[in-house]
Amino acid sequence: MKYKKLKGTVDILPEESAKWQAIEEQARYILHNYQFSEIRSPLFEQFDLYARGVGETSDIVSKEMYDFTDKGNRHLALRPEGTAGIVRAFVENKLYAPEYHKPMKLYYMGAMFRYERPQSGRQRQFNQLGVEVFGSKNPAVDVETMALAMDIFKSFNIKDLKLVINSLGDSASRVKYREALISYLEPHFEELSKDSKERLYKNPLRVLDSKNEKDKAIVKDAPSILDFLDDESKNHFETVKYMLEMLSIPYEIDKNMVRGLDYYNDTIFEIMTTHKKFGSNATICAGGRYDSLVEEVGGPSTPAFGFGVGLERLILLLDLMGYTYSNKLALDAYVVTIGEQVNAAATKLTQYLRQNHLSVEREFMNRKPGKQFKTADKWNARYVFTMGEEELVQNKVMIKNLKNGLQQDISLNDLYNDFEKTFSELEIKLESKDE
Ligand code: ATP
Ligand code: MG
Repeated sequence: MKYKKLKGTVDILPEESAKWQAIEEQARYILHNYQFSEIRSPLFEQFDLYARGVGETSDIVSKEMYDFTDKGNRHLALRPEGTAGIVRAFVENKLYAPEYHKPMKLYYMGAMFRYERPQSGRQRQFNQLGVEVFGSKNPAVDVETMALAMDIFKSFNIKDLKLVINSLGDSASRVKYREALISYLEPHFEELSKDSKERLYKNPLRVLDSKNEKDKAIVKDAPSILDFLDDESKNHFETVKYMLEMLSIPYEIDKNMVRGLDYYNDTIFEIMTTHKKFGSNATICAGGRYDSLVEEVGGPSTPAFGFGVGLERLILLLDLMGYTYSNKLALDAYVVTIGEQVNAAATKLTQYLRQNHLSVEREFMNRKPGKQFKTADKWNARYVFTMGEEELVQNKVMIKNLKNGLQQDISLNDLYNDFEKTFSELEIKLESKDE
């Protein structure tokens, strides 16, 4: 083979895409219940938007960006995450204007691109479902949005889930905490990983997020941000916890949890699966509050809350659980053709049935009738419509209910003159003698 797909990308083949459709449909249904509307933003943006929005020292910007210069010499990047682009769209389209209801609740689904080492649950092109809520600092927004994420997972009967929360406080608390963290980490400087050494003064909170085992052991006893929160942040976090308890949503607090993106403040959260067979990349949803990003990107100060769900990881989990997806591609009828001479009549019949809202496939390969019936069986067709030379001459079609084997021929004139009446009478005939 001359051409191969690129490392870290996948072809989603028909069997797999049916799963994607089922997930997307169900998620949209729940998002609708929560009154979220879809926003679609470009797959690429100015590189600087991400550098600014996501943070220069984040892994995403410093290591994982697919950036390039286009023919007009612009420095661009494929989107590594959804929030920065949505915030840019929010600001550029002045969605903060008073005529828009607040909070504004938006969601998106689509491909993200990160230059990462591919492994299970980690690709270079992957898909996220994300939501962003703009314009409210109410802790009820944090709670409702986390509840939404949990509801999406619950709707698939996922039980092995853990909601982990933390608070990052406001920027003044983080400045104080930053100093305390640096003082704690400095004596361990030589033991830290190369990345963490580099981050210690640039962005020490990111050291807490390190995946290096030695780093992890060191940060285990680091001071907690929760001890540095001011009263407002403390109250906010207390209210979030209270409301989660009121809704009987279990949670854990991880006082060392920070997020891979730099723009968060106050509530942050992750939802991980605790399924035994799930590998190391167990976080399927992550997000939090980001009250300063809109201003950072050039808009008026606007509080916000959002999350991203890794859809590949969700599908991996559903596969491990043996989840059965509803069969949306159910087939109402298979048109069996016997002999080339019925080709045109079969085309007419097939199109006619489709125009009357049946899902229909026909034989194109002129195989032996037995083979055609096997296909109809395999695809779980409700009915087989058979057209052979005899039917053609008599202007009829033979219809068989595959479940009970009952069959009946009907006049094509009747069918074409009054589909509703002819077909409903036929359905009754083919069911009634049942059992
Ligand atoms: P990780 O620590 O696993 O690298 P992250 O902090 O980089 O995750 P976010 O940027 O918060 O992840 O993205 C939200 C979610 O998107 C993750 O929890 C995960 O489910 C999914 N995700 C992130 N990167 C990838 C990837 N390369 N391939 C597949 N899914 C991903
Ligand atoms: Mg990552």
